[in-house]
Amino acid sequence: MTSQLEADMQKIAKGEATLDEVTTESREMLEKVFAELEASREEIGDHIQKSLKADKTLGPCPECGNDLLVRRSRRGSYFVGCDGYPDCTYTLPLPSTGKPLIMDETCEDHDLRNVKMLAGRQTFVHGCPQCKADEADEEEDEVIGVCPECGEEHGGELAIKRLRTGSRLVGCTRYPECDYSLPLPRRGEIEVTETRCEEHDLPELVVHNGDEPWELGCPICNYEEYKSRNEVTDIEDLSGIGKKTAEKLKAAGIESLDDLKNATPEDVADQVQGVSADRVREWQAQAD
Ligand SMILES: [Zn+2]
Ligand SMILES: [Zn+2]
Ligand SMILES: [Zn+2]
Ligand SMILES: [Zn+2]
Repeated sequence: MTSQLEADMQKIAKGEATLDEVTTESREMLEKVFAELEASREEIGDHIQKSLKADKTLGPCPECGNDLLVRRSRRGSYFVGCDGYPDCTYTLPLPSTGKPLIMDETCEDHDLRNVKMLAGRQTFVHGCPQCKADEADEEEDEVIGVCPECGEEHGGELAIKRLRTGSRLVGCTRYPECDYSLPLPRRGEIEVTETRCEEHDLPELVVHNGDEPWELGCPICNYEEYKSRNEVTDIEDLSGIGKKTAEKLKAAGIESLDDLKNATPEDVADQVQGVSADRVREWQAQAD
């Protein structure tokens, strides 16, 4: 149609056709196309829907045989759910980091396609969500000490746990009554050594992940160190604020974190060139 139209415009330019003739012809051509589209409306809709679903399909549901699909909960997190819902309520969890991408590789045991979590520099392959959930169900929690939050009163203990999402943590054995937890890396074998932290009476941990073993140490000390390293005490600790931006903010009267927290995002955006109100809101969220 485009080439036809171009040829027609040439003709108009050369005086071989009139504008009226060309528009009438184009209109007829479009009407014909629309009639065809309209006639196969359902077929086209079906086709689009199928291709969209193919991007989200992992494989057969072990409970009912319908397709398992990547879905999104109302709160925004991703999970695997059955296309037979609400008749079938089978679900599998997905990691909370990143956006799932379904890969071509398929798990031979479950006939499910592997999932990769896209999260910028933290992108990782999650693998088969059924395998991950099964691994977590099979692995026993390894108790390493007393829970600092509820141990004395209720006898809660800290254990290394593997979650069905594939992540690991040190958590209280009384979960969900006690939700005390410390983060652990997703990958690598965790060795529980004989050395104990004097302050927290917990064993020092070493993570083996191919290269040099990582001496994570006492999980509480490790987490406290991590928190203090990432603590936001100054405007320049916020991501995206370098020296230049800090100076511009200062010129607009924003010198401390408190100034930033109390500022009206729209006002800051008006006064500081190159900074949007949304950006200010992000910084405020980080500063909290
Ligand atoms: Zn199902
Ligand atoms: Zn599997
Ligand atoms: Zn506890
Ligand atoms: Zn410690």
